[in-house]
Order: sequence, then structure tokens, then C-alpha cells
Amino acid sequence: MTIYLEPRTGRSPTHGSTLVDGVAQALSIKHNNLVYEMRAAGRDVITLSLGEAFFDLPVPTFDDLGADGGVGTGLHHYSHSRGLPELRTKLAGYYADQFQVPVDPDREIIVTAGSKVAIYMVLLATLEPGDEVIIPEPFWLSYPEQVRLCRGVPVLVPQDVSVYDLHRYVTPRTRALIINNPNNPSGRVYGEAELAALHDLVHDNGMLLIADEAYNEFVPPGQPFRSCGAFDPDKEHTVTVNSMSKNYGISGWRIGYLLAHSRLVDAVLKINQHLITCAPTILCRYVAEHFDDILAHTRPQIQRVVALRNEVAEQLDTLGVRTLPGSASFYLFASLGTSALDSTVFAERLLRDSGVSVVAGIAYGDSCDRYIRISVGTESPERVTQGITAIRDLIAATSPH
Ligand code: PMP
Repeated sequence: MTIYLEPRTGRSPTHGSTLVDGVAQALSIKHNNLVYEMRAAGRDVITLSLGEAFFDLPVPTFDDLGADGGVGTGLHHYSHSRGLPELRTKLAGYYADQFQVPVDPDREIIVTAGSKVAIYMVLLATLEPGDEVIIPEPFWLSYPEQVRLCRGVPVLVPQDVSVYDLHRYVTPRTRALIINNPNNPSGRVYGEAELAALHDLVHDNGMLLIADEAYNEFVPPGQPFRSCGAFDPDKEHTVTVNSMSKNYGISGWRIGYLLAHSRLVDAVLKINQHLITCAPTILCRYVAEHFDDILAHTRPQIQRVVALRNEVAEQLDTLGVRTLPGSASFYLFASLGTSALDSTVFAERLLRDSGVSVVAGIAYGDSCDRYIRISVGTESPERVTQGITAIRDLIAATSPH
């Protein structure tokens, strides 16, 4: 059979572009697919690799939403592509009440199908080809690939570089800085002085600060959490991105949002109209209607998983396994210490030999290959303890004697 080759590139028509060739698979998702396959084959896997926490939530019923949703948009149809107005109002109220960030629900917010695509659309709306985006490690693994998909250049900053030294990575091509607060995978929460320094940096250099706050509810009691938006109420240089996925425990519903200057929201809106149209209307209606009840269900469960995270941090410390500083989320970023293995081989061996799945640190940046990400969001405390004991044992077994 003759395969037709596209004359300009010498590639078959079904071959991905060079742009997509240059983008890596999401390692955590790839790894979890392997876990699903092992489970399907009957293997018990202690899963410390999933990027979410499982909560008990009432199964939704849409009966009380009314046949047409009461707003003329219907439950079964597209909604306004800025997002369902009632949900925008709730989200604007949430940021104003919790974090003193003023948000105009008509002009400064857009609800879309998850925060992942919200970040991508901000990058698409702001980057010129070759523009640089500073991303401190450990980063959430989609940031650099999204920058590449926009033909930008991710500038990756090793994990031991302080916030106060980030200015060294600014060049005339720098357009933006992305932070994740609290951080996946370390659980770190940025302090007030650090956030103020980041705002000064972006302001002084005409950059955009993209703050991903997807885990903002996962902060231990008594520890202050400041939203980035509070430092820039006019949104001159700040985009805040958030999601219902983690805080509401409904990642599969695909509802996320961003808060930004109306100029930028209008630019993102055009992209949203061409790519997504709107987040799922019936689910947005449900969330708008039950906004406070869902949080009332998830908040105590969030606090239990954050407490477990911090108990596991202590257990790891007792076992001699060091973790990067952090207190929030349900993640720990654990050092491989003296193990001779890199993080990919370590994660593969741990899964194969002990049936424990974690994500290799290399997914979160080149400076993180001596780490693994442990998630305590989905397993019982007993099984988590079994998992971390296996980690300690594999470190010991692969360390020089
Ligand atoms: N940001 C961070 C830091 C995440 O960990 C995730 C999901 N793992 C997302 C954004 C994306 O979430 P979603 O698209 O479900 O809103």
C-alpha cells in the first residue's frame, strides 16, 4: 500500500505536527493509565499517584433546577460563554468574601471547562511566538507544555532558587510568570512577603502573573492563605485561575474559571467561543444552586486529608525520608535521598515490585529527578503507611552500602 506523504514536510497526513511532536505526554496521567491497566488485570495497587482527593458527596439530582433553569438558557443547552451568570456571581462573591479580591461578575470573570484550558487560553491570548514564561520548579506539569503549544518558551527555574532571585531569569522576551499556590506537588504556600515580591517583579518588568489557586481550600487551619489577586485589585498584571475540581471534589464535571482585567477576559472570551463555547450548563446550574452546600460537604473532608498529609510528612521524617517544605494540599514531594535510582526508574520499580504507585519527580522539572510525588488523596491512612514504608525500603535497598 502506498502511503501519501505531505509534500512540504514529508509526513503522512495523520502524523502530528512538529509542534505536537515537541510536547511531552502528561507523565502523571500516563502513569495512572498503567495503574488502571494493572488493576484491571487483578493486581492490588496502593495508589499514591492520583492528582485528586476522593470525597463523599451527595449524588446530584437535577429535579429542583426546573425545566428551563429559570434563566431562559435551559438546562440542556449552551449557556452564555462567559459562564452561567448565577455561577459567575457566586464565584465573584467567593473571592470577595474569602480573599478580599473585588471581582465584577459581568466583566472580570470567565467560567470554562476546567482550569487547565483556562490557563491555556490565557497563554494563547497573551503570548507572541518566542515569548518567554518563567515557571519555578517544581511546577504543575502542564504549564511548560502549554507554553510550548502556544509557541512560547518556558524558562524553567530550579527548585532551590528563591522567589527573591527570580529577577535573574527575566529577559526582554519575558512575558509572564506562572505560580501554583498552594503548590502541586510540594504543598508549599507562598507567604505574604513572597507574594509582594512577585508582584513587584511583574509590575517592574511589564509582565503578567498567572496564579493557579486550584488547591486554595487545602490549607491547614490557622495558616494564612493570601490570594494573588488581593495584591492587584485592578488586575493590571494578575490573572487568578481556579477550579471546582479539587475544592469541590468534582474534577470530572469540568468547571474552572479565571479572574482577570476585562480587556484580557474579552480576549480569552473569543478563544473560549471558538474552542469550548461554555462549561457544561446543567452542572454549572447545579453548582450555582448548591454552591455553599457542596463546600460545606467538602471542607471537613478537605481538612481531614490535609491533616493526613501532615501526619504522613512526620512519618516520612521519622523514616528518614526528607520532603520539600510544605503544609497544604494532599501531596508530598519526597526526596530519594541516597538511592542510586533516578525518579523514573524508582517509580517503575516501586510499582512493579511493591505494587505502590507514585509519580516520578522528573515530571515536575529537571531539578526534581531526585524526588517522587506522593498523593494521600485516595487511600486509607493504613495503606498510605504501607506505601511509604515500601518507599523507605526501596530507597534503602538501592542505596550504596
Ligand atoms: N492546576 C493544578 C495545579 C492542578 O493540579 C490541576 C489538576 N491536576 C489543574 C490545574 C487542572 O484542573 P482542572 O482542569 O480539572 O480544573
